[in-house]
Amino acid sequence: MAQQDDVFKKIVSHAKEYGFVFPSSEIYDGLSAVYDYGQNGVELKNNIKRYWWDAMTLLHDNIVGIDSAIFMHPTIWKASGHVDAFNDPLIDNRDSKKRYRADVLIEDHLAKLDDKIAKEVAKAAKRFGDAFDEAQFRATNTRVLEHQAHRDAVHERFAEAMNANDLDGLRQIIIDEEIVCPISGTKNWTEVRQFNLMFKTEMGSTADGSMTVYLRPETAQGIFVNYLNVQKTGRMRIPFGIAQIGKAFRNEIVARQFIFRMREFEQMEMQFFVRPGEELKWFSQWKEWRLKWHKALGLGDDKYRYHDHDKLAHYANAATDIEFLMPFGFKEVEGIHSRTNFDLSQHQKFSGKKIEYFDPELNEHYTPYVIETSIGVDRMFLSVLCSSYEEEQLPGGDTRTVLHLPAALAPVKCAVLPLVRKDGLPEKARAIVDDLKFDFATHYEEKDAIGKRYRRQDAIGTPFCITVDHQTLEDNTVTLRERDSMEQTRVSVDDLHKLIHDRVSLASLLRKLR
Ligand code: ATP
Repeated sequence: MAQQDDVFKKIVSHAKEYGFVFPSSEIYDGLSAVYDYGQNGVELKNNIKRYWWDAMTLLHDNIVGIDSAIFMHPTIWKASGHVDAFNDPLIDNRDSKKRYRADVLIEDHLAKLDDKIAKEVAKAAKRFGDAFDEAQFRATNTRVLEHQAHRDAVHERFAEAMNANDLDGLRQIIIDEEIVCPISGTKNWTEVRQFNLMFKTEMGSTADGSMTVYLRPETAQGIFVNYLNVQKTGRMRIPFGIAQIGKAFRNEIVARQFIFRMREFEQMEMQFFVRPGEELKWFSQWKEWRLKWHKALGLGDDKYRYHDHDKLAHYANAATDIEFLMPFGFKEVEGIHSRTNFDLSQHQKFSGKKIEYFDPELNEHYTPYVIETSIGVDRMFLSVLCSSYEEEQLPGGDTRTVLHLPAALAPVKCAVLPLVRKDGLPEKARAIVDDLKFDFATHYEEKDAIGKRYRRQDAIGTPFCITVDHQTLEDNTVTLRERDSMEQTRVSVDDLHKLIHDRVSLASLLRKLR
């Protein structure tokens, strides 16, 4: 774990050193859990957003996008349940004065119990070698069975307490399981209290009478309140979806782990409206499609898993998370929820406007059911960054730090490098840039030795370096160096466009989703 922490620290400092992510307001010592994206970060982030947007709106002819305002009528948040129930259970440790989410403390504890079991299994696997039968071992080994029974019992109590909003019950689990504060190491806990995560502000001058508005904690409600507008003006027929990318704000109790949990972040959400009764079929379909979208990036199929919810929100009849293996364990990156017709019904009730759909095939009116897919741009960014980062040992004892970013997401697709800064090589290199830049994010770099320039491009994940040398002036060929293999091939300048395009285009990534 200590080693993983080290790696994570290195990734965070790499992100800063190479212009991906900076702490916000850094010259004023930063602002807790708020970050800025730098010159490379913004490109990577935009590419992630484009991949999601195109996968939704280009590949599905029944999904369209919108961009709703961050400020919305405050009654929307009453209707959605956020004013009354968008709470997290918080608990303080009296000795360290640190604040925690009670549910997260228990989830971390459950993960430790799982680790214990995994360790027993790994030890036995080593001892028995090829003859090891894991299923049989798990079903018969007394220590594993004891650990498993304990883990399941805690898990059941946890699920019950969360479902019943039983704050004392949550605290009792923390006490009974002797969970200690990671900072002070003590069990000196306060009571558990609810904390509302929405940021409030005032709209309008006080002379006119101002009203309290909220910074939206999710983008989804902007979609629900525009359901009728889009359905009517787009003449959409059920099933259809509305996608949106935008900022969301949550006053998180504990904001740690870099851009994993921020107070200002970005979401990519899609609400898919379906016939009542067909929602669970669509829920499974979207679970499958979304995992495929993640896996197409090639970050490693074994880094994903589904986590079905123990606590279903009162309006949901199915919910799962797609979790990704971060350096600090499997963590939620995306949520897929079957939200029934709760949101549209609530807005119908609170606004007094009829929000229904006339289904010409069934010849009936109904309030559509909704499947939501909701993914955090920043968490996605973090998973891409963490799984791409490598300190690679090279033959000869040298090392290089490289980001094996999926080529379609890389901030810079190719760098054009004149071998020396004379003899007409810079001019030739610039001419190549001037041709490629219309289709690919292309960098020109002439400073430092060529090896150093390659390393700088490796560190920001540039898939291709193109080196212009004296031979280029004679036969119009260049050296094309590939980031991951470091292989260099001599190719004609005339072939560059096609060679690069085949590897870096978003279209080739999207084709994998067919
Ligand atoms: P968590 O349990 O981690 O607080 P959540 O279940 O409340 O997350 P959702 O409300 O389902 O999250 O939001 C959908 C997605 O938005 C999450 O899967 C995550 O990727 C992203 N997200 C939520 N909160 C944050 C945050 N504070 N910072 C960054 N991304 C976030």
